[in-house]
Amino acid sequence: MIFPFFLVRMVFLLTLFFGTAFAAERKVPVLCYHRFGVEVADSMMIKNSAFAEQMEWLKTHGYMVISLDTAMGYVNGKLKTIPAKSVVITVDDGHKSVYTDMAPIVKKYKIPVTLFIYPSAIANAKYAMNWEQLRELETTKLFHVESHTYWHPNFKKEKKKLSSVEYAKFVDKQLGGAKKKLEERMGHEIKYLAWVFGIYDDALLVDAKRSGYSAAFTIDRQHASSSDNTMALGRYMVISKHTIKDFERMVDGTEDRMLPAKKEVIGY
Ligand SMILES: [Zn+2]
Repeated sequence: MIFPFFLVRMVFLLTLFFGTAFAAERKVPVLCYHRFGVEVADSMMIKNSAFAEQMEWLKTHGYMVISLDTAMGYVNGKLKTIPAKSVVITVDDGHKSVYTDMAPIVKKYKIPVTLFIYPSAIANAKYAMNWEQLRELETTKLFHVESHTYWHPNFKKEKKKLSSVEYAKFVDKQLGGAKKKLEERMGHEIKYLAWVFGIYDDALLVDAKRSGYSAAFTIDRQHASSSDNTMALGRYMVISKHTIKDFERMVDGTEDRMLPAKKEVIGY
């Protein structure tokens, strides 16, 4: 009689343990876009009509676009709940088409968007927005600027090229320097970082934390989760080849549950 009772008790305890463990993991899908346009000119670009279709799909399927800050409040446990079907939208690089093509759609759907910006391009590179445009987007209260390093370097290449002293200085400029510059220009705290080309290593994760970032994002295709390192949270890059079915798999967690080897590989 003792044995079956012991088994029942074991099963009960295990269920309780894993139930709590799973319930304790807090996840949100974070999407990553780059460029927008009427027609697709390169692989990192998405058609305006496709982006609008995705936003319409989210709306009709009961999804709520929440700000990155709200999502992070939930992931780090400060915020107890968010809508069950929540999704975050981010855009890397500060391309002009965010201002000309994406913004009208964002305003139509009234969705919060985080822009990961690298200051060296702003007002310098032909393809980039200028500071006035970024500030104008922020006055809508829909857009919010965060950091994408200082000049979008390849950390792997720089590490090989520079001496350890030079590299440490370089990393500080790219992480802490970018944060400071963006805070001066935008007039608000910069809390989040997006890794350039999705490149990071253990040392960089420590450096990002030391530079004062609350969280940092990769392009590893998984939900941002409380069980992962806060300085390497996943995002799904959305590009022109994705169908609405692919998009659905990103936001509903299907792709997140796939084995890493089965997942789509999207690099730069
Ligand atoms: Zn980038």
